[in-house]
Amino acid sequence: METRYKFKCPECCSDDVAADGPARWNVKEQEWELVDLFDSPLICGDCGYESHEFDHVPVTHGFRVTQEIFTPENAADGEAGSHKTLGRNLSLRDALELVNETRTARVDGVQGVELSASDIAAAGWITVYNGMEYESGAHESRALHLPDWMTAASKRRVAQLMNAT
Ligand SMILES: [Zn+2]
Repeated sequence: METRYKFKCPECCSDDVAADGPARWNVKEQEWELVDLFDSPLICGDCGYESHEFDHVPVTHGFRVTQEIFTPENAADGEAGSHKTLGRNLSLRDALELVNETRTARVDGVQGVELSASDIAAAGWITVYNGMEYESGAHESRALHLPDWMTAASKRRVAQLMNAT
């Protein structure tokens, strides 16, 4: 499949991005067409952020799974945990398997599964928060990142498969 790109708001990650410019009426097509963008900034349709510096990124097709480890040392130092990508461009089946695994079997059960936004259409990922690891005292969470093409209905199905709230 040919790679498509999108603009992404650096503030809120939305891809609802608009630009301002003059339009000309096309008599043959019976619609307005954009003449020029001059040097106008891009505007985020979700948060209103304006900038020339929007990220131009490829549209993702597959699922991605990331991991965050939060240790007692992180907590003591007021730091964020360490973050890494465990897999990208995964099938749903592989992604579900990976997101539900833990790096050690010696860990308390799952504490919660949460959507990144309460509105399912806006949700970009689903996070599994695991309980404390018995040996290290660390907490591991794994997130399933939903590809851009997913509709609210298909996101809802994945959320149900993961028992997300
Ligand atoms: Zn925004």
